[in-house]
Amino acid sequence: MDKVEYLRHRLSELRAAGLENTIRHIDGPQGAWIHVDGKRVLNFCSNNYLGLADDERLISAAKGALDRYGIGPGAVRTIAGTMTIHDELEAKLAAFKGVEAAISLQAGFVANAGAIPALVGEGDVIVTDELNHASIIDGVRLAKASRKIYRHADVAHLDEQLAAARQEGAGQILIITDGVFSMDGDIAPLDAIVEAADRHGAMVMVDDAHGEGVLGHGGRGIVDHFGLHGRVEVEVGTMSKAFGVVGGYVAGPQPVVDWLRQRARPFLFSSAVTPPDVAACIASVDILAASTELVDRLWSNARTFRTSMNDVGFDTGLTQTPITPVMLGDEKVAQEFSRRLFDDHEVFAQAIAYPTVPMGRARIRVMISAAHSPEDLEYGLQAFAAVGEGMEIIKR
Ligand code: PMP
Repeated sequence: MDKVEYLRHRLSELRAAGLENTIRHIDGPQGAWIHVDGKRVLNFCSNNYLGLADDERLISAAKGALDRYGIGPGAVRTIAGTMTIHDELEAKLAAFKGVEAAISLQAGFVANAGAIPALVGEGDVIVTDELNHASIIDGVRLAKASRKIYRHADVAHLDEQLAAARQEGAGQILIITDGVFSMDGDIAPLDAIVEAADRHGAMVMVDDAHGEGVLGHGGRGIVDHFGLHGRVEVEVGTMSKAFGVVGGYVAGPQPVVDWLRQRARPFLFSSAVTPPDVAACIASVDILAASTELVDRLWSNARTFRTSMNDVGFDTGLTQTPITPVMLGDEKVAQEFSRRLFDDHEVFAQAIAYPTVPMGRARIRVMISAAHSPEDLEYGLQAFAAVGEGMEIIKR
């Protein structure tokens, strides 16, 4: 096939630069230990923060929904795809987040890509953090509004950009930030961002993908963490990380959600989330609403692991959350580190490199979970220490 030869060539270039993703194959449910490519390994890189991805309560809720609603949603939400369980999930999410309303979409990625172009258009301005997630970047690209990018978490620079947008006669201004930055684990200064927004009459949208189930009381998210209820217009979330299932949503004041039901293109033009997934999401929200136990365990695990990694000499960057980046720099070093963890120590922790993070900033991003036992954390630590010493990254 001559016509696709250029792609073969590009793939070989990626491989040579150490930039090719190694895709591993998991046989069985998520959990602290999983079966990957034929062997049992410690899982250090899922977003299954609370261990809910294989929780019996979610599984039985999904089975119950299969019996009652079947498997397929049948249509997009605006035609014949809105089932009573979609309404139930949206009401429960809104109550959990402490907002008026929520709209369920097929994924967090879809929620960002769908909401942004619906909320702002021609004559409006989007002001966005330079390290925002790819799905925000794509949503911004799809919008007809013009855009300004501010330096990462730099509220003084944000303020300048907002002033410039006003001076240029912007209609609506929408500030967009990740809540927790997924590759570094640092938390956006949302309190200061909201103040800047108020000074300039801008709306605020936060992507709480790594904040819900993690930050705030019992995992209610970044708005709860900063006590900003009622001051953030748009909260985007995912059901695929702490909630343990799949799907996305937008939560906020009623007019925001009502507008998205009319204009968010994935809501109008892509079929609804399937009934078993929705039922599992409902079970998951119920578990979080009822108890802080899993969130507390997650934080205790995250603190223990990060402190011991720092004690043995690893650089975990800027993290303030259970996302634990082990900074290695060179792309090939990170790939080799990950390979040794897997081949020699039964630890599954994928390397993350360009384009997910900038060139020369490669890392292994350890994702700590409430599912890890103290013994699991110690096992993982010893494996990192052994590989780190072997590759002369740390000395003990
Ligand atoms: N936003 C952020 C910050 C994320 O990290 C992710 C997941 N990688 C998403 C959105 C997308 O979520 P989903 O997997 O539900 O599409």
